Amino acid sequence: TYVIGEPCIDVMDRACVEECPVDCIYEGERALYIHPDECVDCGACEPVCPVEAIYYEDDLPAALEPYRDDNARFFSET
Ligand code: SF4
Repeated sequence: TYVIGEPCIDVMDRACVEECPVDCIYEGERALYIHPDECVDCGACEPVCPVEAIYYEDDLPAALEPYRDDNARFFSET
């Protein structure tokens, strides 16, 4: 799955939402989140993010590692 990290917070450009073919990017209060079970790993969202907040989960920079669980948690709470 792809994961949205810290750079998205308070930015929420939403260019990725337009690109996602399966509409699995959802809006939180301060950031966008990718549903880990719905993402089909197409990669379309990653290059359109103006703040480079999106990474494939295995390519997450160390500082953004916590966001893999953070994205999943968003969906378990709603
Ligand atoms: Fe949507 Fe594809 Fe990005 Fe997954 S990788 S969130 S399916 S655009």
